[in-house]
Amino acid sequence: MRTIGLIGGMSWQSSAEYYRIINQAVQSRLGPLRSAQTLMYSVDFGPIERAQHEGRWHDAGVLLADAARRLQAGGAQCVVLCTNTMHKLAAQIEGAVTIPFIHIADPVGEAAQSGRIERIGLLGTAFTMEQDFMKARLTQRFGLDVIVPDAPDREVVHRIIYDELCVGVIREASRDAYRKIMAKLASAGAQAIVLGCTEITLLVNAGDSALPLLDTTTLHALAAVDFALQGNGNGNRDAHAGPAS
Ligand code: GLU
Repeated sequence: MRTIGLIGGMSWQSSAEYYRIINQAVQSRLGPLRSAQTLMYSVDFGPIERAQHEGRWHDAGVLLADAARRLQAGGAQCVVLCTNTMHKLAAQIEGAVTIPFIHIADPVGEAAQSGRIERIGLLGTAFTMEQDFMKARLTQRFGLDVIVPDAPDREVVHRIIYDELCVGVIREASRDAYRKIMAKLASAGAQAIVLGCTEITLLVNAGDSALPLLDTTTLHALAAVDFALQGNGNGNRDAHAGPAS
């Protein structure tokens, strides 16, 4: 099994989800006592979040490129950046290492394509919804038409991410707000909703939307597992599932 390198802490609430999903997937694929080989370099989100909101993206990129280098030096065989927003800096981070960088947009685009989905509604931070780093990759590589909520709804989606989800607060009123915004995207012709922020999965699930949800946290974590287990045939699956008798 290859070692997965995770850059976490943005926020730690979603990094914990990555850790759980990756280990559960390895366990279900290889056997009950199997778990993933991982390294996580978890940053202090405070300075990163300040840099984002002050537009000092390059400074944040320096920190994250350093995290990627440390993961490679520690033996990681890929880099998984556990946030959509900081994929704005994908090139700076990817350029710091020689191991593969698993881009969060790619498993999302692949899932959309295999579901024959052409138009997606994208939820995420204002950076993700308004700038091009995710939208352009989804459009150019996967031919997807990407729509986002209107400006007042984008503000609501963004505020709930930073003020609530990233600090571990889950509110029914916020779930309701997301439900309404997802329904509006459906009316605007979206065929699926991309949960394009790694904390949104903590708030909503399939029952909250009439449309299929493409959760970036789950899809990205599972892409990392696919990478880690490439070349691991069934021969590596544990032969017995229970305790020896
Ligand atoms: N985890 C979030 C994302 O996926 C937001 C936090 C951040 O700005 O990194 O975009």
